[in-house]
Amino acid sequence: MTSSLFSMSADEPSRQLGFAGNRLDRLSENRAEDALETALAAPDARLLVSRGGRVVLKVNGEGFEPWFGVAESAAAGARLEHAVLLGWDRGTPVLAAPGGIEPDDLPDGLKAIDHRSVYVQGLLDEPTLGALAQGASLLAWNASHRFCGRCGAKTVMRIGGYKRVCTGCEAQLFPRTDPVAIMLAVREEKCLLGRSPHFPPGMYSCLAGFIEPGETIEDAVRRETFEESGIRIGRVAYHASQPWPFPHSLMIGCFGEALTEEIDADREELEDCRWFSRQEVIGIIAGTHPDGILMPPPGAIASHLVRAWAQQR
Ligand SMILES: [Zn+2]
Repeated sequence: MTSSLFSMSADEPSRQLGFAGNRLDRLSENRAEDALETALAAPDARLLVSRGGRVVLKVNGEGFEPWFGVAESAAAGARLEHAVLLGWDRGTPVLAAPGGIEPDDLPDGLKAIDHRSVYVQGLLDEPTLGALAQGASLLAWNASHRFCGRCGAKTVMRIGGYKRVCTGCEAQLFPRTDPVAIMLAVREEKCLLGRSPHFPPGMYSCLAGFIEPGETIEDAVRRETFEESGIRIGRVAYHASQPWPFPHSLMIGCFGEALTEEIDADREELEDCRWFSRQEVIGIIAGTHPDGILMPPPGAIASHLVRAWAQQR
């Protein structure tokens, strides 16, 4: 009985996605009010420095090194008073701090690279990419919640960045994660992919959209697919999720069983939307599609959904 509940999870799909490799021990139940100060005082503490969606990396002969010691982080412009505590790696505190230096003004040997390029080009290992996603999302949330939405007074950071407290009315604010449904609609031997006008030439991907308040994941999959493509979806199956730090989303990947075939695409959102046969998709994955059609990078959940379907027996 129990085994049927978990029949799909022998090799957890989420584990194979970019930004999903975070291995830090968050110890969330142990975060003290002064967790940040304690962590920064540890001699072996290390941190990432990020500013405006770009992480500061040390450039060396072999590649890029993202980790700084606390004292060393001054060269990268780390603003330690606004740092957040990500967790611990075998007892070592791991943090992320906002940078205070414009990319062009960084000293020699340091370079700021945008998070998307770091991910697409595979510049960092998976556990570091996971920590980067956590830090980027937490820093972005703290930076955008410096004032209380209830009374307008300043807020101050607590417990390492996982809470802000209003200095006027004592309201407590907690970090948010925005759920996005991303889905592959499938029908018999074909699947539905769309092309947004801002995609690179030739790229097609899954449809996606924010889950709205009061909506289930399944209903969001059905609504978004219908709004963007005119296709009606019946059953929905969850497949995998991916932290997506632009700025603090969680992509929830699903398969949707298409009940209709006639596409009526939303031309505001999509430049094109069409059905692809399984054979065509196998060609796209192999990079041999006659029209040069491409998919998002392999670590992207959209790519993962399409591959999982195409390889299914
Ligand atoms: Zn307030």
